[in-house]
Order: sequence, then C-alpha cells, then structure tokens
Amino acid sequence: MASAGRKRKLIVQKYGGTSVGDIARMQNVAGRALAAQKAGNDVVLVVSAMSGETNRLLKLVNEITPRPSEREQDVVVATGEQVSVGLVAIAIQTQGGKATSFLGHQCRIVTDSTFSKARIQQIDGSRILDVVKQGHIAVVAGFQGVDEHGNITTLGRGGSDTTAVAIAAALEADACEIYTDVDGVYTTDPNVAPAARKLDRISYEEMLELASLGAKVLQIRSVEFAMKYRVPLWVKSSFSDDPGTLVCEEDATMEDLVVSGIALDRNEARISIRDVPDRPGVAAKIFGALDDKAIVVDLIVQNPPLGGKSDLTFTVGKADLTKAHDVVKKVSKELGAGDISTDQDIAKVSIVGVGMRNHSGVAARMFRTLSTEGINIMAISTSEIRVSCVIPSKYAELAVRALHTEFGLDQGAKKTKKAK
Ligand code: MG
Repeated sequence: MASAGRKRKLIVQKYGGTSVGDIARMQNVAGRALAAQKAGNDVVLVVSAMSGETNRLLKLVNEITPRPSEREQDVVVATGEQVSVGLVAIAIQTQGGKATSFLGHQCRIVTDSTFSKARIQQIDGSRILDVVKQGHIAVVAGFQGVDEHGNITTLGRGGSDTTAVAIAAALEADACEIYTDVDGVYTTDPNVAPAARKLDRISYEEMLELASLGAKVLQIRSVEFAMKYRVPLWVKSSFSDDPGTLVCEEDATMEDLVVSGIALDRNEARISIRDVPDRPGVAAKIFGALDDKAIVVDLIVQNPPLGGKSDLTFTVGKADLTKAHDVVKKVSKELGAGDISTDQDIAKVSIVGVGMRNHSGVAARMFRTLSTEGINIMAISTSEIRVSCVIPSKYAELAVRALHTEFGLDQGAKKTKKAK
C-alpha cells in the first residue's frame, strides 16, 4: 500500500484485551506507541476493551433477558472500548506525549445497521489525521461504529481487529500491527502440538482459511479487509520485541511449503439422515429449511443412492445442533426419509497451504497419515488450498500432531519439504 505521499510513515497499532488488561499494561502500550512515534512514525492506536470486560457487559445484559434488543445491547457493550481509549490516552499524556481518544462515531466509522455484527461501510479519516498531524497519537475505540441514523453499532466479537485494518486501509497506512498475547501466527495451536512453530509470513488467503477454521488470532473480517485493500498486516506480541508474522500477498517462496498450517475445529456437530429419497429437490428442501432458520451448514456428504434412497450427512455449529435437529426431523417426515442420528463428539482437522496448488497427492498423504494412526474419516471437504476431514473428537490432537510431522512443520524440520 502506498504511503499516500507522506514524509513520515503512518502505522496503525491495535492492542487486544489482554494487552490493555490492567493499568500497568496500558502504560506499556503507551510506551510502545511513543517509542514508535519517536522512531519517526505517525501512530494511530486501536484498542479493545480490557480483557473480560465485553463478557462482563454481555452477562449484565443477559441477567435482565436472554433476548435483549440488539440496539441496546450494543450501547452497553461498546462502553468497554470507551474506557480503554480514555485510559490509554491519559497514560500517553502522563508519559509526556500528546494523545486524543476517539469513539467510533467521533471518527465516523460508519457501519450498516446490523446490531452486534455490523459491517463497516466507510471511514472518514480526516479527524484522526488532523490530530496526528499535530503530533498526537490518535487512540481509536475498536469494535464500534455508528450507523447512518446515529445508532451505536458493534462489529462482532473480536471486531477490533477489523477496526484496525479498516482504519489502516482508509488512512492508507504503511502498516497495520495487531498486538496480541501470542508472538505471531503458528503452524498450529502450540497447546495441541508443542512442536508448532511461528510462521514468518503467511498469505492472506491462507490466513483467511485458518481464521475461518477457528484459529482465533485474527477476526475473519479483518483478514478479508486486509486482503481486499492489500494492507500489510503484522501479528505481534505486545509483551516482546519479536518481529511476529507478516500476513501479506502470496509470493513464489510460499509455495515451497506444501502445508503452512493445521487447524482444529471442535465446534461442529454431525447430523445424518438415512434413506433420503433420491429425487430432484430433496437437498434443496432440507438445506433450504436450515437456511430459513439461519443455520450455517459446513461439510455435506451424500452416499450414492441404493434402491432409490441415499444417506445424507452434514455438519453444523454445535450451538445450532438442537435447532437443526428439529428442522431436519420435520423435513424428513415430510420427505418420508428414515432415521436421524446426531454426534457431537467430532472434530474437523484441516491442512491449509497455497503450495497445494502445485503439489499433487496432498490429500492422499493426509488420508494415509490419519489411517496409519488408525483414525477413521467421517467426511471430507476440500478447496484449492485446504483439505478438511471430520474425525472422532478423541483423536483430534493425535491427528494434528501426526499431520504436523508428516508435512514437515515440526520445529527443526527442514522448512521446504516437498510432496513426494
Ligand atoms: Mg482478539
């Protein structure tokens, strides 16, 4: 991205909840922002609510009713970030710097009116740039915006990442740095595979797949934004000086690595319907009914028909299982289908890598690895840069570790292991 003809570099730094979890940590953030400014950069901060605060606010709402007006709920939960920006600005001022805080509506982060998961439509960066020009660090509230009618909105959990990237895009910043409690993007969750290692770089596309597969390091929307506007995105630790991971455009060297990351998602459940009549419109009816209830279906497997009937298996989010089961029961009855079974003890393990495009046999290698470990695959789905398998949840960690080793990702392994 261009530096918009500016003399000084403009950096957007985002600090998450743990990074501003108490006053000492906010002072650390203030110090880091001032250091970046002294090093010759203009600095815009985006901060989250103090860790645990958004949950605390949601719990208060929930104590009144489990079905609040989403407009009012947004009014409540947006306050977490208001406290953070004020405190961080005061911390900067106390350390001798200049700082101005901004709430979403003050710097015109205009969103649609989908309360609790609003989408950013436009940002007017001029107020932020005005204060930055005067030597201030702008401290912007993450997660919140305002709709065209002036209502306060929020962007969905983890939404401060998206605020940061959107601001970086709007201001044509030179970089967007996401500071968190891990020092970058890892090949897989180090709690599951201790041999996991930090990636120096990862492509937007790979990061998007990993984020949608449950890797919690970045909100999916933020990666979509970064990819769309080509914002170079750094994931770094606010507690160390490690350079972190750069999320950026794909280049040739990334393809040397067949697989860049392994994701584990335990949030899905399986539903199977036996003896579904084999005729046009059946799938449309079942999945249409699920869609009417806003239930998102992930993997779908249909067995070849036998005697005019086939079995259908698919996965939904665990939270939607009861709702989905009710829908399916009703539709199956109408269709004259057979028994329905559900299973919550499943996990989805996925391998992700742009290198897959140029290496054949990657999926087979994954299946072989799982079979060597005696793990049964219940469903499979693929994209150009991903292969996902649904397996029994008790084998989830074993599967991740075995695949991590097989694809040469373990610490100390040769980084450019190629497919055989
Ligand atoms: Mg976060």
